[in-house]
Amino acid sequence: MIQLTTAATLENAINKARTVKPRVHINRFGSYTVINKATGATYTVECMKREGKRFASCSCVAGERGQACYHVAAAVSAHLQLAQERAALNF
Ligand SMILES: [Zn+2]
Repeated sequence: MIQLTTAATLENAINKARTVKPRVHINRFGSYTVINKATGATYTVECMKREGKRFASCSCVAGERGQACYHVAAAVSAHLQLAQERAALNF
């Protein structure tokens, strides 16, 4: 589990995501499958909010060690966009 505090936490992971450009499939709000198009590897990323804090988990080796990986960065960016769209519709 990775606690998401500031954008700086994910900065390196975001940069890697920009290079790798993985595909993010939305399973449901908060659950994403991140696909590395080059290798075909898929990882599951879950985003959640607990007591006002944001957390994410990833099924890859780095993610299981609690390190911010680019799968989390890619999924979080999709998650935030989705959250924004949901908020916009919820007027
Ligand atoms: Zn990962």
